[in-house]
Amino acid sequence: MIVMKFGGTSLADASRIREAAALVEKHLPERPVVVVSAHAGVTNRLIELAREALRRRTRFDGIRARHAEILSGLALPGDFVDDLLEELESLLTGITLVRELTPRSLDYVLSFGERISARIFAAALRSGGVGARAIPAWDLGLVTDSAFGEAHPLEESYPRIRRSLARVRDVPVITGFIAKDREGNITTLGRSGSDYTAALVGAAVGAEEVQIWTDVPGVMTADPRIVPEARSLSRLSFREAGELAYYGARVIHPSTMIPAVRSGIPIRVLNTAAPGHPGTVILAERGAGGPSVSSIAHKRGVTLINVVSTRMLLQHGFMAKLFDVFARHEVVVDMISTSEISVSITTDVGRDLTPLRRELSTFAEVSVEGGKAIVCLVGEGIRASKDTETLVFRTLEEAGVRTRMISMGATRINLSFLVDEADVEPAVRALHRVFFEREDPGT
Ligand code: ADP
Ligand code: ASP
Ligand code: MG
Repeated sequence: MIVMKFGGTSLADASRIREAAALVEKHLPERPVVVVSAHAGVTNRLIELAREALRRRTRFDGIRARHAEILSGLALPGDFVDDLLEELESLLTGITLVRELTPRSLDYVLSFGERISARIFAAALRSGGVGARAIPAWDLGLVTDSAFGEAHPLEESYPRIRRSLARVRDVPVITGFIAKDREGNITTLGRSGSDYTAALVGAAVGAEEVQIWTDVPGVMTADPRIVPEARSLSRLSFREAGELAYYGARVIHPSTMIPAVRSGIPIRVLNTAAPGHPGTVILAERGAGGPSVSSIAHKRGVTLINVVSTRMLLQHGFMAKLFDVFARHEVVVDMISTSEISVSITTDVGRDLTPLRRELSTFAEVSVEGGKAIVCLVGEGIRASKDTETLVFRTLEEAGVRTRMISMGATRINLSFLVDEADVEPAVRALHRVFFEREDPGT
């Protein structure tokens, strides 16, 4: 059995959907289980619609037209997903009437993207003569907690999914990204969460491989949108992929590695536009050799919070108190650095940090600086290399990039630093040139 997950770009229009369906057909002997994202751009549009609904009756035609175009391109009946579109429309009307958009109702709105695309993809497979059935993940038994927007799957999901899939004879086309909590409310697993669904389903059924089909030929040495010279990596370890994903390499969702690590099932990142390319295989160990740095990730939208307290910093309990405030305000911390009188902390939560700041100000001086970014070098080889750090600092200095904070994880497979958002591209490009575009990077 294999899991084949198709991302939004691989399902963007009728012709791409047909190509993806042909790939599934080709893999039929391996008994594929399909996981789909919403068609490209649909989730973003649904978020806009939900926010718009708060203020006025929404202009719903765009999403209807988008799906109508896909349906007609696939020669499917024009009313094929009308029941779902009508349910979505009444939900949006409800939001307008009560003038309230809770995280719970937002997840409900977002669920339509994947519910519609699964139904359309299953139909596309059937048109090609492949027995296929769209299944919302919750019907298979994917249950999460109630952390709307970023829900965590519960342990009981694994045996349930295994049992449910054992009964399905057709090719299952499962909705990625969405689930339900124990009370039956719809939840989502966080943006790009379909990768996570795919790995979870793979672990549940003991798949031989989880394939993430996307618009790039695997995980690359950097985001090719910033570095056109980036090249695809043949192997990565779960640890490396986890770090890269966490530090912004959008190609894979960070939680994807959780089920993969527990089951040891390899994940392969493949390109729908070049299916013959072997892509990147992500495994427990990537094997010896290779360069010290495997890839460079970056994450924008980071905020730096400086906490200064001359009196209390060295007192025991101060750090506990500090992090307790972050925990209560649900502000996830990325990088930390301390000195005798100050602690600097970064976070990428997009929310208003005023309440957090107010509470911290009751016992310390606080300053908040937005517009930052983290650039992160990841590689199992960094641990053994003596001069990666020196090379990084020299390169950044030559590129005129000022670094604000530096941190190396205890496992020594990542080296991350904070820069101004405007410096991301020059920093990533300069580092890429030195580590990947030179014969001898000197490490
Ligand atoms: P999908 O719709 O298939 O889920 P995404 O847009 O979520 O696709 O992820 C693919 C994108 O991830 C690529 O188009 C690329 O711009 C971006 N990306 C960021 N970092 C990397 C990287 N290191 N390797 C490959 N792609 C990357
Ligand atoms: N459609 C969702 C998103 O855009 C999930 C995914 O693409 O994996 O975030
Ligand atoms: Mg994605």
